[in-house]
Amino acid sequence: MNVCVYCASSTRISPAYAEAAENLGRLLAEKGHALVYGGGNVGLMGHIARAVHAAGGHVYGVIPAALHAREGIAYGLADELVVTDTMQERKKLMFTRADGFVVLPGGIGTLEEFMEVLTLRALGYHNKPIALLSTDGFYDTLMAFFGQLGTEGFLRDDLLQLFHLVSTPEEALAVITRSAA
Ligand code: AMP
Repeated sequence: MNVCVYCASSTRISPAYAEAAENLGRLLAEKGHALVYGGGNVGLMGHIARAVHAAGGHVYGVIPAALHAREGIAYGLADELVVTDTMQERKKLMFTRADGFVVLPGGIGTLEEFMEVLTLRALGYHNKPIALLSTDGFYDTLMAFFGQLGTEGFLRDDLLQLFHLVSTPEEALAVITRSAA
């Protein structure tokens, strides 16, 4: 499978998140799945890409030219690094290549990516599995907010069935490989 991972670019976060990213990267490679991701060398993106390579796996990165031009941001060792003109093209390429998605802890970029693939799935544009990896309860508050949105009538009833909330990289991979099969 081509597994698209959305995750933090920040380097100022708990080592527990880096450990989860590294474990997921190693598992992907060991099980013969390729990593599709934002092509960065920073934050959790760097941790997962390096871990995939350390375990002999394949890294496919897609990065917009504006980020690529900034020193140190791109992962130069990617097996395939596609540089796009715009952020929109980048997101489309990542989405098209992916057979499933894993969302790790992250900031607004990661949240935007999660919301986009979730919204597209809710609207029937795709049926690819999505795992939300809530390391150490990182996404508890987002889930609570989803609860509030549901209570107030903003969500369709089955929204929580459109993605898998998991707490370990092993579970994340298990749910997306099972659902995509
Ligand atoms: P954030 O969660 O705000 O740190 O943003 C991370 C997400 O947005 C990643 O999944 C990337 O696809 C994208 N992104 C944000 N910053 C960068 C960067 N410096 N290099 C590559 N991708 C980035």
